[in-house]
Amino acid sequence: HAKEAGKNSCHLFDTEQDKFKRSRQDRYLRIEQALDNQEFRLYYQPKVDLRQGTVIGAEALIRWQHPERGLLPPVDFLPLIEDDDLIKLIGDWVIESALQQMETWQAAGFAIPVSVNIAARQLQAPEFIEKLKAILYLHPEVAHRLELEILETAALEDVVKSSRVIDECRQLGIRFALDDFGTGYSSLTYLKRLPAETIKIDQSFVREILNDSHNLVIVRSVIGLARSFQREVIAEGVETVEHGRFLIQLGCDRAQGFGIAKPMPGDAFADWARQWQAPAEWRTISDIKWD
Ligand code: C2E
Ligand code: MG
Ligand code: MG
Ligand code: MG
Repeated sequence: HAKEAGKNSCHLFDTEQDKFKRSRQDRYLRIEQALDNQEFRLYYQPKVDLRQGTVIGAEALIRWQHPERGLLPPVDFLPLIEDDDLIKLIGDWVIESALQQMETWQAAGFAIPVSVNIAARQLQAPEFIEKLKAILYLHPEVAHRLELEILETAALEDVVKSSRVIDECRQLGIRFALDDFGTGYSSLTYLKRLPAETIKIDQSFVREILNDSHNLVIVRSVIGLARSFQREVIAEGVETVEHGRFLIQLGCDRAQGFGIAKPMPGDAFADWARQWQAPAEWRTISDIKWD
């Protein structure tokens, strides 16, 4: 009987696995098809200098304009392919599209650095640097304004490899940011070994600085850490004028967040940037004294 049961459960297992494989295959084909059908879009969220009131850059964020389901955020499809080579194809598309957008803006007299998010699997691929070089070569006018973002947690998966890639990018003139910084529990030990120019403070800490003294301490520490290691620092998740005021007081002038603007299509971005003005109160906040 045991043999019989074993056989049955084995059979059951196989069909479940087949089903899993099949649905994985389906998803793969659907996303591949979306790439062919040009259903992906890049939205751009401004990065600003709070106090100067200037727009200092944009982050490209992928969306899927799904014919039936509407505009899908990355969380609805990227996790399905993050461990698959398809993420590399999408990643190439993202870099190429961001460079094309920069060229379009440049032709209209609007020049701004654009950062794109790089998945761990993409960064760790042996061909990453060579492919990046090839793409940059095709966009010489704007290539130097491309920046890359890698999640702190992804960089930590292989610190040796990540630091080498970041270094090679630096030699190409491409800057790196450590994204969602503070979520990797690594900060002190590894920051030294990851030569990224910029640290992005994770939005979960920033959003709560007004109501949670621990988060205030974390944000202040990350800003201090960035200064000590001579890195630039930018805060994500600035949802209100108050958040901005707090950050300026803590010594962080650069920010991104819904309180400044939500991500928007590329053609809307240039108009937005031309007319944006920071709240007057941000301009008059005095400097923090670091001693
Ligand atoms: P991220 O790189 O940390 O990007 C910031 C995310 O926070 C974006 O979500 C943005 O819309 C959202 N956000 C910005 N300001 C605020 C705010 O004030 N409040 C709140 N609640 N959210 C804010 P989005 O576009 O859904 O992207 C989520 C994540 O997906 C990104 O986080 C990034 O890790 C990943 N991602 C997006 N585009 C790409 C891509 O092209 N390639 C890869 N590999 N990953 C991407
Ligand atoms: Mg990012
Ligand atoms: Mg982030
Ligand atoms: Mg994030």
